[in-house]
Amino acid sequence: MALIVQKFGGSSVADIDRIRNVANRVAEYRRRGDQVVVVVSAMKGVTDNLIEMAKSLMPVPSEREMDMLLSTGEQTTIALLAIALQSMDIPAASLTGAQAGIVTDGVHSKAKIRNITPRKIHALLDAGNVTIVAGFQGETSEGHITTLGRGGSDLTAIALASALKADLCQIYTDVDGVYTSDPRIVPTAKKLEEVSYDEMLELASLGAKVMQSRSVEFAKKFGVIFEVRSSLNDNPGTLVKEETQSMEGVVIRGVSLDKNQAKITLVGVPDEPGMAARVFQQLADSTINVDMIVQNVSHGSDTPATDLSFTIDKPDMARAQTVIDGLRDNINFVDVLADENIGKLSIVGVGMRSHSGIAAKVFEVLAGAGVNIQMISTSEIKISVVIGIEKAEEATRAVHDAFLD
Ligand code: ASP
Ligand code: MG
Repeated sequence: MALIVQKFGGSSVADIDRIRNVANRVAEYRRRGDQVVVVVSAMKGVTDNLIEMAKSLMPVPSEREMDMLLSTGEQTTIALLAIALQSMDIPAASLTGAQAGIVTDGVHSKAKIRNITPRKIHALLDAGNVTIVAGFQGETSEGHITTLGRGGSDLTAIALASALKADLCQIYTDVDGVYTSDPRIVPTAKKLEEVSYDEMLELASLGAKVMQSRSVEFAKKFGVIFEVRSSLNDNPGTLVKEETQSMEGVVIRGVSLDKNQAKITLVGVPDEPGMAARVFQQLADSTINVDMIVQNVSHGSDTPATDLSFTIDKPDMARAQTVIDGLRDNINFVDVLADENIGKLSIVGVGMRSHSGIAAKVFEVLAGAGVNIQMISTSEIKISVVIGIEKAEEATRAVHDAFLD
């Protein structure tokens, strides 16, 4: 008898038919004699709807009440799933995050899990129930309801798998697993049998948004092995785990394209101490996330100046413009160039640690495709380049097929 944690996201529980479909899948495991803990998200669109309603009353509602409100989305799903299972004569009981013993800090809307005391879960399992836990929520030690940040049901599942020492943790979603690239862009993309936590994190933050990054970090920290798989078919998914020697043999795990970034260049920034600090502090104060940063060598000998380029999320562009306009009086730069027509292409693989020449090969493939590189950044297991949007998809296919076909 195994203890299994299964998590179903919003699209897997989008309507009553899908909830019945989830119940059937859970029932299969239960009938095999496994103990099953199910974590569910709110039905697709529900969380966004609740947010919209609150904001129509007040632009910035109190975070405490928002957590109270948003936690109801998951609460609807746990009860419906329990009822669906009971209708099939499978004993089932649902628990809110608080009832499941999930205690968090008091940071509303992005609380961190402090500890989990799964006494009720164990009692319900021991009595033969499928136990269904509301994702994305917990309570403070003072009893206030909190939520764990958007996409937080993933975290609930991983944290419960860790606390319960589950034999298996399955994250069900609407894709078959983690792919070597986005199949909509790269038809030759293949599903990965396994991927390391670090690669998954890079690929997730790069736009392969299969899972909330925080939950992958949590899984890495506590060594929770999990499988990402589809709730719509029986295909095996992708196993996410610590990197192994055989993983290192494969140099490149995946290629991703992020079309949601924009590039800003400050031209002729005085080359003196404190300039970059000022620019990026102001951006940070406006909670604008900066990703890549490139500074040129200094030019001009009397009053040396440099060009500073960086990328941000496209939706932050208007706010970034405002910040930069505000900086004009403060920093004497010559010009600002903004470009939303870019793509960030990234190549990820733990094997890069032990192989050389990968960057050279990437650049060669891009050159062969006639693609101009605007920015480059690298980490131990990743190479990213900013390129023009018009050739971005073609470049993604070329790089993917050069390394992975
Ligand atoms: N319902 C929450 C959200 O939409 C949590 C989740 O789906 O994981 O962000
Ligand atoms: Mg989700």
